[in-house]
Amino acid sequence: MNGIDRERLLTEFERLVSIDAESYHEAEMKEYLRRRLTALGLCVTEDGAAEALRSRGATAGNLYARLPGDLPGEARLFSAHMDTVSPGRGKRAVRQADGTIRSDGTTVLGADDAAGLVSILEALTVIRERGLSHPDIELLLTVAEEPYSQGSAVADYSCVRAKTAYVLDLAGRVGTAALRAPSLLSVSVCVRGRGAHAGFAPEQGVNALTVTARALARLETGRVSEDTTVNFGTIAGGTGPNVVPAEIRLCGEVRSLRHDEAQARGRLIAAVFREEAEKLGAAAEVTVTEQLRAYAVDPGEPVVRLFRRAAEETGCEPVLVTTFGGSDNNHFARHGLRGIVLACGMNEVHAVHEYTEADELCRSAELTLRLMTMEALPGDGEPAD
Ligand SMILES: [Zn+2]
Repeated sequence: MNGIDRERLLTEFERLVSIDAESYHEAEMKEYLRRRLTALGLCVTEDGAAEALRSRGATAGNLYARLPGDLPGEARLFSAHMDTVSPGRGKRAVRQADGTIRSDGTTVLGADDAAGLVSILEALTVIRERGLSHPDIELLLTVAEEPYSQGSAVADYSCVRAKTAYVLDLAGRVGTAALRAPSLLSVSVCVRGRGAHAGFAPEQGVNALTVTARALARLETGRVSEDTTVNFGTIAGGTGPNVVPAEIRLCGEVRSLRHDEAQARGRLIAAVFREEAEKLGAAAEVTVTEQLRAYAVDPGEPVVRLFRRAAEETGCEPVLVTTFGGSDNNHFARHGLRGIVLACGMNEVHAVHEYTEADELCRSAELTLRLMTMEALPGDGEPAD
């Protein structure tokens, strides 16, 4: 058999779920994982992300861990994130008769990303228990992934030797892998007009809401091309029905699989708001911030070839997809890692009805175990010198 211990894995999953770890508050989770990994024989260090993200209230850094191997070939990096979205305090995993595992309905389950963490822990446990051969294994367990992957944005990559990465952080059936992900730009707009009494002196006002409406009417939103989406998600402003609104604020985002197209959309949004503001004598301040940079991994690359072989041997059909969600892998790509994002047994994430399935967790752990222990395929991953 493959060595995965179902009951041990499920108990570990429940323990991970029971630890509060909303973004920036991962200190308890980090300490738990440090202890577990050290007990499994890994050398664990914490980077300076807590300090770098202190202004946002961060309490923990990313964990880097290393397990030297006895097989030749390049090191492989495995990653999952420690944080969860809210409501994530007081989480409890409840096993259901149908094999699913859910929260008690008041919080998220946090299978995003406890499913990834438990896959890694169980695989490492089996390696130790059975004395399995493997190449060098590296881990990067990140904080603050949910708010635009801020933990991995400031991670210390100087210790990472691997050139390939498996990021366990994707919803869907185990066997699914994302090879492409978009750039993500956040957009904030502030339109400033001039307030005035709506009845006594509307002529003295410059209506910021009218400017905003005219600009939005010119801008496409939704799926604006095959590769690109645009959304304005929040609007705020105005002081009362009898006052010409002096200020309107909008927040939105642009996602595109093509970085240049994302940037072009950002520039278009800024230009349209400024033009419409100018026409009415208002001013528009538009800030476009790059949160994530798009990447694409080719199906023929070693990281994908090894994954396909491992998935087939695990009995999961490998399915290669493009995701419109960002992850730590966007930042990994910027640091030269060729990584893909793997489904690891999470469903309907970021909602209180999020769930996982016991069978899927076992499959994910088995897939992870194979990825950790398989010999490099012929022609791939010759030892670097
Ligand atoms: Zn996640």
